[in-house]
Amino acid sequence: MNTYSGYINKLIEELSALPGIGEKSAGRLAFHIINMPEAKVNRLADAMIQARSRVRYCKECFTLTDEEICPICANPKRDHRTIMVLENTRDLSAYEKTGKYDGVYHVLHGAISPMLGIGPNDIRLKELIERLKGDVEEVIIATNSSLEGETTAMYIGKLIKPTGIRVTRIASGVPVGGDLENIDEVTLLRALEGRTEL
Ligand code: ZN
Repeated sequence: MNTYSGYINKLIEELSALPGIGEKSAGRLAFHIINMPEAKVNRLADAMIQARSRVRYCKECFTLTDEEICPICANPKRDHRTIMVLENTRDLSAYEKTGKYDGVYHVLHGAISPMLGIGPNDIRLKELIERLKGDVEEVIIATNSSLEGETTAMYIGKLIKPTGIRVTRIASGVPVGGDLENIDEVTLLRALEGRTEL
């Protein structure tokens, strides 16, 4: 590790701490960055700093956004009585890309996992229940079809059922254990259309 300058070593160390980046890729990236024009490096660093400090959770659906209320929640043309529940903002983007869903969302930021010690209070579930006090007709549970996603879906289903609000689960056209963000739009839409009552 002492072959390079201490600064390069530090950069490699920071980059290799990122998900999906091993030490080799980190080394390649570090040398690429060193050879970039200084203005470009500043832009890159600035984009990271701005994104980290300016992005926040939407007050209604808890997706990541630059505003207090995200553009989807702020849009009066969306059907605010239909709420799709998702594990994360990337899954929301996947459904949004289909352009066929006109309801609103609720992002849990995780899923219940007894094995990992993640309980109902560790995700944005209280906030969802709070939203149901408003005018809500249907809650579509679109958590992943992993063990955690299914556990979360069942838990939420049981919680909502007594309120009389319709609660549905997207069809399992989505492969088991598959993350929503990696699934094509046609499969996503089919899963949505084939949703069943919980
Ligand atoms: Zn929102």
